[in-house]
Amino acid sequence: MGCVIREPGSSVRNRTASWRVFAPNVDRSKCVKCLLCWVFCPEGAIEIDEDGFTKVNYTYCKGCGICANECPPKAITMVK
Ligand code: SF4
Ligand code: SF4
Repeated sequence: MGCVIREPGSSVRNRTASWRVFAPNVDRSKCVKCLLCWVFCPEGAIEIDEDGFTKVNYTYCKGCGICANECPPKAITMVK
């Protein structure tokens, strides 16, 4: 099994947000900046702002909920 990548970087055109039903919402008052959500997000949709907090890139977030599941202090909730 394998695949051929004909055009490197072309996945940026695949706006996976179109799959989303629930969206993650980060409560900064609970976030401890551990970045586990950033590590686990399969879409690379978690970004880090200038204050070290994470923010979601809703263009690519597909709403899988992995970030919310992995967040130790439960700072992320999935909302419709
Ligand atoms: S819901 Fe899924 S795709 Fe969206 S930010 Fe969380 S882990 Fe990434
Ligand atoms: S996993 Fe939770 S506590 Fe850690 S950086 Fe992400 S939102 Fe903040």
